[in-house]
Amino acid sequence: ATPTSIMAGSGRSAELGVLFKGGEHLEHTQRIDTVVLDKTGTVTEGKPSLTDFVTYGSADEKEMATMLHAAERRSEHPLATAIVDGMKQLGVDRLEADSFSAIPGHGVEAMVAGRNVLVGTRKLMAEHQVDYKEALSSAEAREARGETVMFMAVDGILTAHVAVADQLKSSSKKAIERLKALGLDIVMLTGDNERTARAVANDVGIEQVIAEVLPKDKSEQIRKLQKQGRTVAMVGDGLNDAPALATADVGMAIGSATDIPIEAADLTLLGDDLHRVADAVLMSQKTMRNIK
Ligand code: ADP
Ligand code: MG
Repeated sequence: ATPTSIMAGSGRSAELGVLFKGGEHLEHTQRIDTVVLDKTGTVTEGKPSLTDFVTYGSADEKEMATMLHAAERRSEHPLATAIVDGMKQLGVDRLEADSFSAIPGHGVEAMVAGRNVLVGTRKLMAEHQVDYKEALSSAEAREARGETVMFMAVDGILTAHVAVADQLKSSSKKAIERLKALGLDIVMLTGDNERTARAVANDVGIEQVIAEVLPKDKSEQIRKLQKQGRTVAMVGDGLNDAPALATADVGMAIGSATDIPIEAADLTLLGDDLHRVADAVLMSQKTMRNIK
C-alpha cells in the first residue's frame, strides 16, 4: 500500500462526506464483513414522539400525566424528551420530583409528591413486583409496529403505559440494500425491546437483531461477533455507542448532533445518512484494488 494512493483515497472520500482518521482505517474498512448498526438515531431518526398514553384502574389521567412529566423531566434520554413534550400537550400541573434516578437500559425511578414512580421496561416492572399484565396486549400490538412502550407504576401498582414512535430515516432501507449488495452481513444492535427491534429491522430488510442490550454491554456484543471470526464495523450516533465503536475493527460515527462520539471512532460520516457507510466501504475497496 503506497501512502500516496491511500492519501488520494482519503481525499476522495472526504469529498463524499466520509472522513477517515488515518490511512490504516481505509485498509481496515476494506476487510470488514459485518456491519453492526445501532437502531435509535442510526437506522431511525432518533426523535421519538408520543403516540399513546393510557391509564389503568382508578388512576386519574391528569394526575398520572403530571407525575410522569415530573419524573421524566429529570431524565436526559430522548425517550424522556418525547414523554415530557407529550405530557405538556395533555396539560399537566408543574411539579418537581423530590428524588430521581436513571436506571440505564431500563427506565427511571423518582419520588413525586411523596409517591414512588417507576417508568420503563417489563424487566423494571418485574424487578419491583409490579403486575403489568393488563397493559401487555396493547403494548405488544404497538411494539409489533415498531413503537417503544414503557410501563408506569405508582407505589408498586401499574397506573399507565406510554408509547412513542421514532421514524425510520428515509434513506435507511436503500442504504442497507447497498450494503448487502456489497456482500456484508448486517446486524442491528439496540437496548430496545426485542419485538420493537424486530419490527424496525423487518421494515429496512435486516434479519439479524441483538435487542435488549444494556448500554454497558454493547461492546461485549461486538467482541462476541469478533470471536465468531467476523471483522466488524460498528455504526452509531450516540455517546453510549462510544465503547462499541472503539471495540469494533472499524468504528463509524454518524450524525450531525453535537454529541457524536467522534473521539471513539476511526471514521466520521458527515450528515446522518447510512449511504455514507456504503460509500466508505466502496471507496476502501476501490482504493485497495488500485494499490494491489
Ligand atoms: P436505546 O439503545 O434504544 O437507546 P436504552 O438502552 O437507552 O435504549 O434503553 C432501553 C429501554 O429502557 C428503552 O427502550 C425504554 O424502554 C427504557 N428506558 C430508557 N430510558 C428511559 C426513560 N427515561 N424513561 C422510560 N423508559 C426508559
Ligand atoms: Mg443511537
